[in-house]
Amino acid sequence: MNMPASRCPDCGRLFHSGKSYCPDCDRDTLDSIDLNGKGNVYSYTEIYAAPKRFAQQAPYLIVLVEMEHGLRVTGRMLNGPVQIGDRVELHKVENHCYYFAAL
Ligand SMILES: [Zn+2]
Repeated sequence: MNMPASRCPDCGRLFHSGKSYCPDCDRDTLDSIDLNGKGNVYSYTEIYAAPKRFAQQAPYLIVLVEMEHGLRVTGRMLNGPVQIGDRVELHKVENHCYYFAAL
């Protein structure tokens, strides 16, 4: 799926969804856009000692993904194992969390 994001209409800088201010232009209204949801795993970690509300889901993979459009996004992998450089795609956004699946 595509990734919801924001873009400054003045300078074109991209931001994560929910951002409403461009520090480069002092602009406080950004455009909501959808970006390509594909990227590569930049780094990852496996969580064994999870916070209480996620304890039953442990162990699970947290990935830092470098998206094709340049933003880096932290999210969860729906499947594993995973390695740095793997191609992944945004599968869903739930409770403000990005979930990725291997391509
Ligand atoms: Zn700007």
